[in-house]
Amino acid sequence: MNSSISERIVSIRSSLPTSVKLIAVSKQVPVEAIRFAYSAGIRDFAESRIQEAASKQAELHDLPDITWHFIGHLQSNKAKKAIEQFPWIHSVDNLKLAQRLDQLAQQLRVSPQVCLQVKILPDPNKSGWSVPELLADLPTLDQYKNLQIQGLMTIPPSGLNNPEILNVFNLNRELAKKIQEQNWSHIKMQQLSMGMSGDYELAVQAGATMVRLGTILFGDRS
Ligand SMILES: *Cc1c(COP(=O)(O)O)cnc(C)c1O
Repeated sequence: MNSSISERIVSIRSSLPTSVKLIAVSKQVPVEAIRFAYSAGIRDFAESRIQEAASKQAELHDLPDITWHFIGHLQSNKAKKAIEQFPWIHSVDNLKLAQRLDQLAQQLRVSPQVCLQVKILPDPNKSGWSVPELLADLPTLDQYKNLQIQGLMTIPPSGLNNPEILNVFNLNRELAKKIQEQNWSHIKMQQLSMGMSGDYELAVQAGATMVRLGTILFGDRS
C-alpha cells in the first residue's frame, strides 16, 4: 500500500503541469499514509473536519513544513479553530461565514488565504454562492481585509458527463476572470481550486491551479 501511494503520487505529479498544486486530501486517512505521501514530496494536505484534523496535526507536528487546507463545510462555531489550524480555507461558502472569519482573523492577527466556494450550476446538495449571489456580495467581501481572498473553489453537481463537467470548470475560470477584471481593491482571483479524483484531468484542462485529490492517491476511504 505504501509503495503504491508514492507510485501514484509520482505518476500523477508527472502528469500535472508544474503550475498546478497537488493537494492530498487526507480526510479519513491514517497518519502513517500521510507520512508516506510526505516522503513522496507532498507538502499540501487537506482535511474536511476540524476535530479529525486537530489530532492528526498534533501527531504530525514533527513535519512543520506541511501546509494544511480546510475543504469541508465550516460551521460558525468552528470558525475560530479553522483559522487557528488552517492557513488555507477553500470552502468559504457564504457571506456570514466570511464576515465571521474576517473578524476572527483580525482578533487572532492572522490573514488566512481563502477561496470562495461557488455553485456554477444549481445544486441543492452543496453549499456555496450561486453566481448572481456571489457577484452581489463582492462589494462586501472586498471589505474583509483580514482575509486574503485568492480565488474560487467549485465542485460540479454529480451525474454530469465529461463535457458538462468541463463546461462547469470553464465557466468557473471565466467567472474568476470576470471578477478579476472588476479590479477590486482587495479580492484576488489567481487560484482556481477545482478537480477531485474523478474529474481532475478536466479541471486541469480548464485551468485549475489547485487540485484536491484523495481516493486516487490513498485508495478508497470506506
Ligand atoms: C473529499 C473531497 C475531495 C477529494 O475527493 P476524492 O474524490 O477522494 O479525490 C476533494 N474536495 C473536497 C471538497 C472533498 O470533500
